[in-house]
Amino acid sequence: MQDAGFEAWCVGGAVRDALLGLAHLDWDLATSATPQEVRKLFRRTIPVGIEFGTVGVLDRDGRMHEVTTFRHDVKTDGRHAVVQFGASLDEDLARRDFTINAIAYDPIARRLHDPFAGQVDLARGIVRAVGDAEARMREDRLRALRAIRFAARLEFTIEAATWVAIVGSAPHLTRLSPERVKQELDKTMEQVRYPSTALERWRTSGAFASLVPALASVPDEVLKAVDALPMPGPPTRPLRRVLRFAALLSGCGAKAAERTLRDLRASNQEIAVVTSLVDRWAQHGQSCGDMLASGVLPPAPELRRLAASVGRLRVTAFVRLAAARWHSGSRVIAPALVRRLHRTLIATAFRDPIEIADLAVDGDDLRRAGIAAGPALGRMLAHLLEWVIADPTRNQRDALLAIATAEWHETRDARIDDVRRERGMNG
Ligand code: ATP
Ligand code: MG
Repeated sequence: MQDAGFEAWCVGGAVRDALLGLAHLDWDLATSATPQEVRKLFRRTIPVGIEFGTVGVLDRDGRMHEVTTFRHDVKTDGRHAVVQFGASLDEDLARRDFTINAIAYDPIARRLHDPFAGQVDLARGIVRAVGDAEARMREDRLRALRAIRFAARLEFTIEAATWVAIVGSAPHLTRLSPERVKQELDKTMEQVRYPSTALERWRTSGAFASLVPALASVPDEVLKAVDALPMPGPPTRPLRRVLRFAALLSGCGAKAAERTLRDLRASNQEIAVVTSLVDRWAQHGQSCGDMLASGVLPPAPELRRLAASVGRLRVTAFVRLAAARWHSGSRVIAPALVRRLHRTLIATAFRDPIEIADLAVDGDDLRRAGIAAGPALGRMLAHLLEWVIADPTRNQRDALLAIATAEWHETRDARIDDVRRERGMNG
């Protein structure tokens, strides 16, 4: 590009991360060439965001690099900017969010251009807005959340005026779309080794109060539990992210967790897994932790009940979440005992009858034995399962049928009363 007479600079996160000695997969370039000129210069290009001046250029290895024409913002409304091309490199750097993100590198001359002293802030570990912090946050409220994420990920502090502007932004963050907010939380969960440093700032700045009310006063103990769970990537392991969200919402209860994720437009899959984990934690976390803190595993029938409630395929996720919460709590629970709990639960879950499908009788058997189809039959199966979970040797066809028919006849009078009452109401 420079051969063709255009300026071309590496910019943004890749320069920042390279100066910190961190790996960064894709290099973004800023250029004086227009998008049309960029498309003419390279053989393989993709128009990823022509209206913002961005062309994707594929390198020899098929990796895409974003090449963006120098631009400056002519108008902003708190999230969307109207950009104009034909700007200079300095103008282009001035519209960037933080000094550490506003360093340019010329790969041919091997020269840095750093008009906002981003290198000094990198060396000192400071996230600082480019220019007037208050004004920059007003232009784009997302920057408040980005500052918090960068500070946590790089283990930097936030410069005082920038922090004041973040706190001042909190009431205005509701302008951001729920999708953007969720994306910032996702990135925090995915990229930050100790998310509590970010989440604690979401709380103290008022960002949670504005955006995720259920977490407005989330306790430190819960934030520490998120830290205890491993970082998802890269490559991103979605279950790990889901677990971190389950830990974050574990103090809210299942209902609030579900509403919160729905409001953030999380996927149905994510909502289902997180909500079920939060619900099971609320049901069993305390009592199971009490047992472990006293140095023993819960008794076998309790473990079978726990495995049945959590579900065969979620035992591991549940134990990870519970271990993170116990770990960050005030009680001392030996890690070896938690590992034994995990092994025993897995063995139980895959050996013992803990689902209705595992019973030695099914609905057809019960119908043939004279029990009418309907909700009562479902309740009967659930009742038989409880009886079998208490003692798995009871899972014998003849014994179960005998119990079922005996109960059916015993409850006959009550059912007749039910029917009478219903008729009375209808008539
Ligand atoms: P990450 O590793 O999270 O991708 P990044 O610095 O590459 O970090 P991007 O969101 O990919 O972040 O943006 C690339 C660059 O574009 C940033 O380094 C910054 O210079 C600029 N930038 C991105 N978003 C904004 C914004 N909201 N306001 C101002 N500048 C921004
Ligand atoms: Mg990037």
